[in-house]
Amino acid sequence: MTSPNPALVRDVEERRTFAIISHPDAGKTTLTEKLLLFGGAIQMAGAVKGRKAARHATSDWMEVEKQRGISVTSSVMQFRYADHVINLLDTPGHEDFSEDTYRVLTAVDAAVMVIDAAKGVEAQTIKLLEVCRMRNTPIITFINKLDREVRDPIELLGEIESVLKLQCVPATWPIGMGKTFRGVFSLLKNRLVRFTAGEDRLGDEERDTIEGLDNPRLDELYPLEMPYVRESIELVQGTSEPFSLEKFLAGEQSPVFFGSGVNNFGVQDVLDALVAWAPRPQPRDAGVRMVEPTESPFTGFVFKIQANMDPRHRDRIAFFRVCSGRYQPGMKVFHVREGREMKIPNALTFMAQDRVIMTDAVAGDIIGIYNHGQLHIGDTLTAGENLGFTGIPNFAPELFRAARAKDPFKAKQLQKGLQELGEEGAIQVFTGEFGNILLGAVGQLQFEIVAQRLATEYKVDAIYESTDVSTARWLSFPDEETRRNFTAEQAARLARDVNGNTCYLATSIYNLETTMKHWPQVTFHQTREMS
Ligand code: GDP
Repeated sequence: MTSPNPALVRDVEERRTFAIISHPDAGKTTLTEKLLLFGGAIQMAGAVKGRKAARHATSDWMEVEKQRGISVTSSVMQFRYADHVINLLDTPGHEDFSEDTYRVLTAVDAAVMVIDAAKGVEAQTIKLLEVCRMRNTPIITFINKLDREVRDPIELLGEIESVLKLQCVPATWPIGMGKTFRGVFSLLKNRLVRFTAGEDRLGDEERDTIEGLDNPRLDELYPLEMPYVRESIELVQGTSEPFSLEKFLAGEQSPVFFGSGVNNFGVQDVLDALVAWAPRPQPRDAGVRMVEPTESPFTGFVFKIQANMDPRHRDRIAFFRVCSGRYQPGMKVFHVREGREMKIPNALTFMAQDRVIMTDAVAGDIIGIYNHGQLHIGDTLTAGENLGFTGIPNFAPELFRAARAKDPFKAKQLQKGLQELGEEGAIQVFTGEFGNILLGAVGQLQFEIVAQRLATEYKVDAIYESTDVSTARWLSFPDEETRRNFTAEQAARLARDVNGNTCYLATSIYNLETTMKHWPQVTFHQTREMS
């Protein structure tokens, strides 16, 4: 292999690509907004707010659709900070929680986990962290809302360690909380940054600081708090392991920062940690070999498809993570699944309120490719090599609906629409032995989006009905005979997904377990990789 191009290496080294994960209301949007301020991207911060307001102001999906121009710009945001290019990928919140959220996490190299200090580890945090675990994604923890009456920091760290099985190493430590929140003491810089309520100054450098944990000024100012703070720090440092960059990069250990997002307090520490510790774009498994980010030939994969983002053009955009090489406008690439060449005419990036034509992108960057159905989730594009990036999961759906066309004469259109939407990854579509169609989703909103898209794009009204299916598993068989016997016995409970893979549809976990016991030679898979 030829030695890497120095300009490409430099550009890749500068990249940090991450997502923020949190349970709803822990403060993800607020943190995003503050992070963007550091990047000087003030208009974008507005965009985040605008989207949030739109989401709360209306529960009507059609209304949300109208706001899509805004929501899209905030799906991926790029900004510069401390000589680095930061790519921040948005993970959808609770209302629109879906497989998208999981897939976005396959396109990042690190994640910032926001925990509400009053609530601790919540349900969605657990789910999202499980997904990060699948790829050992390094996690930086931000414990938020210290300006409120919250739980004891030691207790919170204990909860993260026991519930999430993630070793915590505090990088900062809070002094007080709520009305008596005094600031955070940086254990790395050995200084206190003082907190003043109602202020959201930009840099910590502009704030009042006190050097050294033993500084007598701390005792003068905070005689009530300091003894407990020192005791806690001693206790935590005595019981936790020291920070290890290696363990952080392996996803085993998380540096923990305390702060208050809404006051922009403690936020810069998180950004600094991201630049200092989070990995540059990582090598990726492409099936036949690992692809290094600094290789010259261009490669990458589609991890998300968003439809009708702009009401003026009813188009779809494929979100594509560059894994190696350099994207240049108009370049020709090899579409591996279809085995043909294709041109990427005008890829987009998302800056401020606008879509901007992307002129240059390297590993870690996300580009938006106009898509008329030729790109599916999981598709790999290369400079000609036959590779397939692995690891984009299809999850066993948790929600099911039977679907049929309101007008029986439109059954074909429904089938075509669902096939395409299924291939695109908007929802999972299963077809039973008698042609009955079953939709599977991870989030409720996926059903609504699909119904709306069927109506506008395929001119067919779908009717959803409840079903007795409660979970699905993809099957693999050791040999043809087992397949035949199993199929004969279980025909009524079998269906095919859009790629023709056989699935077992169970009425309950009990039903699934019973069948699994009867058929130990058959493998029941909870996830399936998209290809
Ligand atoms: P998301 O659902 O995770 O995106 O959460 P948001 O960023 O929308 O925050 C949820 C609520 O918590 C909003 O009302 C925020 O103003 C509030 N919030 C966020 N950060 C803080 C904080 O540091 N302190 C306090 N008191 N409230 C906060």
